[in-house]
Amino acid sequence: MAKQQIEEQCSFCLRSRSEVQLLITGSKANICNQCATDAFNIALEELNTKNKRQLDKQLTLLKPSQIKSHLDEYIIGQDEAKKVMSVAVYNHYKRILNSKKMNDDDVEIDKSNIILVGETGTGKTLMARTIAKILNVPFCIADATVLTEAGYVGEDVESVLSRLLQSADFNVEAAERGIVFIDEIDKIARKSDNPSITRDVSGEGVQQGLLKLLEGSVVSVPPYGGRKHPEQKMINVNTQNILFICGGAFDGIERKIADRLNKQSIGFGNGKKKHKQEETNYLQFITPQDLKSFGLIPELVGRLPVLTHMNPLDAEALKQILTEPRNAIIKQYQKLLKMDEIELEFTEDALDFIVQKAIEFKLGARGLRGICEAIINDVMFEAPETKDKHFVVTRELAAHKLEHGKFSGKAA
Ligand code: ADP
Repeated sequence: MAKQQIEEQCSFCLRSRSEVQLLITGSKANICNQCATDAFNIALEELNTKNKRQLDKQLTLLKPSQIKSHLDEYIIGQDEAKKVMSVAVYNHYKRILNSKKMNDDDVEIDKSNIILVGETGTGKTLMARTIAKILNVPFCIADATVLTEAGYVGEDVESVLSRLLQSADFNVEAAERGIVFIDEIDKIARKSDNPSITRDVSGEGVQQGLLKLLEGSVVSVPPYGGRKHPEQKMINVNTQNILFICGGAFDGIERKIADRLNKQSIGFGNGKKKHKQEETNYLQFITPQDLKSFGLIPELVGRLPVLTHMNPLDAEALKQILTEPRNAIIKQYQKLLKMDEIELEFTEDALDFIVQKAIEFKLGARGLRGICEAIINDVMFEAPETKDKHFVVTRELAAHKLEHGKFSGKAA
């Protein structure tokens, strides 16, 4: 008796080969093109959900006071900025973790991008970096000065996100909840109060370009930064949950603040106020209006709703920076030398001397390391071979090393 030919069929939808466009056959089961596509989409969705759950787990959401006490371990002073940032960051990540629940009603919580104003070397970058570390999210630093408007020499605004993707190992979902620190935002201020005399490709143009990143939208990003090329494969990144922290020194803004405040007090005949201008830290009175009069466009200021300031560092703060934070410079040297079984000690007046030099060179906290390096370099060179297991850096020794090193006689 002739065997009846059974037509092969899809093991999932049971449609036969003649009913489908394509049937992929396996040793024990078959699948049609439609079921394969459905399976692919289901797998993709499941993996995304799993990935998101994993990211949620990785994200350490701490209460504002907990964030602040972590910051206290690494950053000296700047109490007000720490408090403002802790709340902003807490709100931002709470918003991400509760995004599902939030869809239930109509209240949408805006993003809390931050702008930090303060002299160079006061810890703006350190603050942003430390927050990213505490929360365990991808972090990158971008320099606003290299950005130019699309079509001009320089980097496209989107390249800011390339760095974030790189720091997230190209895990797009992880990058989409990372932190971007944009440094020197003050350098892209409008050059003139009149918005349209000439094209301002590295100022206002860049500010315009940044708007869409800051407000939250899907942006196509060149994976390795630089300029976008038509042939290059782009990666789509949604910036809705990326926290942007912008930092800048805004040189001269204190004068604008002072003028504004003095103007406000005109009529009270307060001549002493002007006299005090030099001593007062006017940054504490900064408002969004001052950023606008410095040359940031109102739309950009509007997308950076959290504004706070960093105080200048005095000698006491600089000395604390040398010795107190968890990874203080002196502690780092001590740890390095401990590996060679050498105890390193700095006398109090040696520390005062280093601080005094940092102030003299107008390098702020940024200069501390350079000065210490110059002093300690010979020790590092000789240490592995020395028999002396206790090394004391005195003021005299520090002064001698500096005089004969690269810092001799020049104030940077
Ligand atoms: P900014 O971004 O404001 O120019 P940074 O954050 O890059 O300054 O600071 C430069 C270095 O100075 C940091 O790496 C850190 O070692 C030190 N520093 C600056 N401010 C502080 C601070 N408030 N507490 C501890 N260290 C600080």
